[in-house]
Amino acid sequence: MSQPTQQRIVKTAIPGPASLELHGRRETSFSSSFSVTVPLYIDRAGGGILVDVDGNHLIDLAAGIAVTSVGASHPRVVEAVKEQVDRFTHTGFLVTQYEAALGVAERLNALTPGDFPKRTALFSTGAEAIENVVKISRVYTGRDAIVVLGHAYHGRTLLTMTMTSKNVPYKEGFGPFAPEIYRVPSPYPYRWTGRGEDIAQEAFDQLAEQVRTQIGAHNVAAIIVEPIQGEGGFIVPPEGYLTKVAKFARENGIVFVADEIQTGLGRTGDMFAVNHEGVVPDLIATAKALAGGLPLSAVTGRAEIMNAVPAGGLGGTYSGNPLAAAAAVAALDVIVEEDLPARAREIESIVKPRLEALAKEGSRIGEVRGRGAMIAAEFVVPGTTEPDPDAVKKIAAYAIERGVLILVAGTFGNVIRLLPPLVIGDELLNDALDVLEEAVRDLDVLPTEVVRSVA
Ligand SMILES: *Cc1c(COP(=O)(O)O)cnc(C)c1O
Repeated sequence: MSQPTQQRIVKTAIPGPASLELHGRRETSFSSSFSVTVPLYIDRAGGGILVDVDGNHLIDLAAGIAVTSVGASHPRVVEAVKEQVDRFTHTGFLVTQYEAALGVAERLNALTPGDFPKRTALFSTGAEAIENVVKISRVYTGRDAIVVLGHAYHGRTLLTMTMTSKNVPYKEGFGPFAPEIYRVPSPYPYRWTGRGEDIAQEAFDQLAEQVRTQIGAHNVAAIIVEPIQGEGGFIVPPEGYLTKVAKFARENGIVFVADEIQTGLGRTGDMFAVNHEGVVPDLIATAKALAGGLPLSAVTGRAEIMNAVPAGGLGGTYSGNPLAAAAAVAALDVIVEEDLPARAREIESIVKPRLEALAKEGSRIGEVRGRGAMIAAEFVVPGTTEPDPDAVKKIAAYAIERGVLILVAGTFGNVIRLLPPLVIGDELLNDALDVLEEAVRDLDVLPTEVVRSVA
């Protein structure tokens, strides 16, 4: 099947009658424990377009939360999966093996920063990669403590939700939490409450002091950071922070881990977000964009750390599933050969100036930030820094009704984040930004009742 027409087409109300009918079935069949960004049911997707079951063509500024960087049906990914599914769907990499998993490992070892022998292990989800980063770091160091940041998001399993910062909806009621997780302040420049002269240094000093006085550096197995915090609201650490933390980790025998599950593989305009500062982590976790939409995650890093766990210690039934591995080989080749990191920089050069200009028109947008195709605007009550989550709900609802899918993020729920597929065309992108601008300009006259579409 060919890619859908790359054009925004609104034929019905969104969500339309066919989506609403399916949503009725969802309500009587599927647990209500999953949030509903919008009750929209998709028929097909590709490039920068999602086609819903009513035939509306929506511009996709979500990419399934930074997953479909190469688009939701890149011909090379589709071809690779079809070819693989015809041969076999599963053997279990722990039982009998296949080449595609090695192809993914070899590519990740080559693409990740660091000029040292590396190994990769494959899993299925991002949270599983982070769980394994913790297990590997503990075995390698013989230590227990794990240091994470405020505003962090690392997943929803018991361990990774413990590592995640935000209580509602990720943690409320799900305790008791995993032990030996310690949180240090995130260097969030817009909301930093310290002196603010050198936020990188101040935040680093707090980390170092907390580690020394509350934990003991010799008890810390790993420091795990997102080089740009994703769910937290695209918080970009001030320059120098990651370098200082990596150095501190090295001096104290602590494994320094980059959670690049959202930022990695081209999204921020470089293959990895740590490259912007020339930081070389010991271990890097990837997932989301890795397999062009199929579930696959990886941990890649120093061979001596990756090989520290005795054989049999890691793995799972579906780890490195052949369909996902075949898709990943294709997706990684597309990211490299089509130079999608460069495309992410082009997207930044279109999106950021437009959002910055919009921010100057009033005082609702407190900050525009991010890198590459990972750009956000933080909304505040005009004239203050008080978060305005209602504004972003209204904007997202307005946009979706006009055929533009955008996501909300942030610890305070007041951030619009744009995560388009990296293959989106300029015209679609500008059309979507026109709609977003309209929404922001018309905010005061938008209905106060948040439309049924956005939760
Ligand atoms: C999405 C995400 C995860 C969790 O990945 P899942 O595949 O949802 O388990 C972990 N870390 C970061 C930074 C993420 O964005």
